[in-house]
Amino acid sequence: MAKRVVTAGGGLAGLTCAKYLVDEGFSVTHLEGLPYLGGRASTSPCLGMGSAGSRAAASGPGA
Ligand SMILES: Cc1cc2nc3c(=O)[nH]c(=O)nc-3n(C[C@H](O)[C@H](O)[C@H](O)COP(=O)(O)OP(=O)(O)OC[C@H]3O[C@@H](n4cnc5c(N)ncnc54)[C@H](O)[C@@H]3O)c2cc1C
Repeated sequence: MAKRVVTAGGGLAGLTCAKYLVDEGFSVTHLEGLPYLGGRASTSPCLGMGSAGSRAAASGPGA
């Protein structure tokens, strides 16, 4: 039976960590506090791409 591990944070770091653990055979439960993945690298729908949150655009130039 695969060892179970919990990872947190759906940004690039957390998702990369979870992916490596899955590749090594762990059973991963991943926690994210927001209703979408990507963290600060989320796509803004105002750019005509995707439908995720707007944190990246909100903190970008001109925000
Ligand atoms: C406008 C903008 C432009 C950028 N441009 C570039 C670029 O050109 N090149 C580049 O290399 N980098 C760029 N970056 C930086 C890059 O987006 C970040 O360095 C990277 O996304 C950070 O990833 P991370 O996983 O470390 O953190 P984050 O993306 O902040 O993810 C952390 C995640 O953890 C979640 N979280 C936090 N606490 C908890 C908790 N207690 N429980 C559950 N979930 C939790 C958060 O909700 C979030 O989803 C840019 C950033 C911004 C804002």
